[in-house]
Amino acid sequence: MPMYDACIIGAGPSGLSTALSASMRGARVAVLEEHREIGFLNARCGGLVSERCIRNLKLNLKGEYILNRVSEAVVHSPSGSLLTIKLGGECFVLDRVSFEKTLASKALNNNAEIYTGVKVKKLKFYKSHVEVETTSRAFESRIAVDASGALSIFTPAVLGLKPSLRRPIPSAQTEAKVNGLNGDEVHVFLGRCIAPGFFGWIIPLNSNKARIGLACERGNPTLFLKNLLKKLNVEDVYNVVKWPIITGGPLPKTFNSRFLSVGDAAGQSKPTTGGGIFTGTLCGLIAGVAIARRSEEHLVEAPRSYEKTWRKLLEYEFKMQRLYRQIFRILDDETLDYTVSFLKSISWNSLKDFDHHSKTIEYPLRNIKTILGKPGMYPLISKIILKTIGNLLAYSSVE
Ligand SMILES: Cc1cc2nc3c(=O)[nH]c(=O)nc-3n(C[C@H](O)[C@H](O)[C@H](O)COP(=O)(O)OP(=O)(O)OC[C@H]3O[C@@H](n4cnc5c(N)ncnc54)[C@H](O)[C@@H]3O)c2cc1C
Repeated sequence: MPMYDACIIGAGPSGLSTALSASMRGARVAVLEEHREIGFLNARCGGLVSERCIRNLKLNLKGEYILNRVSEAVVHSPSGSLLTIKLGGECFVLDRVSFEKTLASKALNNNAEIYTGVKVKKLKFYKSHVEVETTSRAFESRIAVDASGALSIFTPAVLGLKPSLRRPIPSAQTEAKVNGLNGDEVHVFLGRCIAPGFFGWIIPLNSNKARIGLACERGNPTLFLKNLLKKLNVEDVYNVVKWPIITGGPLPKTFNSRFLSVGDAAGQSKPTTGGGIFTGTLCGLIAGVAIARRSEEHLVEAPRSYEKTWRKLLEYEFKMQRLYRQIFRILDDETLDYTVSFLKSISWNSLKDFDHHSKTIEYPLRNIKTILGKPGMYPLISKIILKTIGNLLAYSSVE
């Protein structure tokens, strides 16, 4: 039986970017994917990513995996007030099937091996290697990488962590024809009747078709999605797909000497939006470096360096986003309405950075002196602060 440097569980973006990064550095890797086709997840992802995400992977910005480009988001407050925001550069809507096939073919070109229709069932750890039991045959590798996504069972079992730490929340999404769509604009819908504790979205694929979805902390996302579709007068609906969104931020530990966890499996999605393609692929690229180093006998140091490096790049952002998410999820409709009118009145109309939300959210705080100088600001800000404290107190007494 061949001894791989790494067996990677899952051919999603995180697993494939790990394989690509390790194989281009000469490591021998096998990716094991339970589905027969790569890119199975297209229908259950919005596919919205920044230019940075595509550039990190050294992919062409004109590839066939790009369905659309968007540059603005229209936020709909619970009472229907609209706030238009520039997204901080052009963003791209991916065809996930084609995106993952492109990553897979790049990895194959670097001699990575990809086995489809192979479901990993069990990992057995030995002193010198890991045995990976699958539905077809066993594989052996020096290190195992869990990139099996939001429902991963391996990371909690191997690292002794509770799966609930990933804070999965249910979502529902569909693709549908929408009349009068501006193909350049994403829409975000706030409100407890729309998506309690989260938000709804429209991500245009072109000028008449879009991915429409939402996640919610309470209630049934499919029913909420039906309501949203009704509100939008959308009738021509394809399949509705349900899948968890990860909002808890990264797990406290993502490695041991023979194991790395990457992407949704490791909780490496943005806590504010659940978007995990940028963060998962970035961490995958870092994991690939560690795998290649490990095969050169840096046995203990290399897996540790994976965690050290990704935390250095993303830990602060994850922490801040987790904090903002904790506040956002308990805000009632009135407070959300006040917040939207506050942002409109200070002409807050652009994201500083699509991936680093802390920079955007910190902007009003950093400019508080100028903002307070504007007429009518004190009463509005006081209302938001008092309402937020009220929401926090009400929420903690229910919890
Ligand atoms: C409705 C919705 C909308 C979203 N929209 C966006 C968005 O617009 N932008 C964004 O950045 N993110 C978005 N996300 C999040 C994004 O989809 C995930 O963060 C991303 O897919 C995580 O990639 P991954 O490779 O870690 O896991 P996955 O993409 O889940 O891939 C895991 C792979 O592992 C395979 N697998 C699982 N178990 C096994 C096993 N035992 N053996 C073998 N193979 C296995 C699976 O089949 C799958 O191919 C959205 C998520 C949802 C649910």
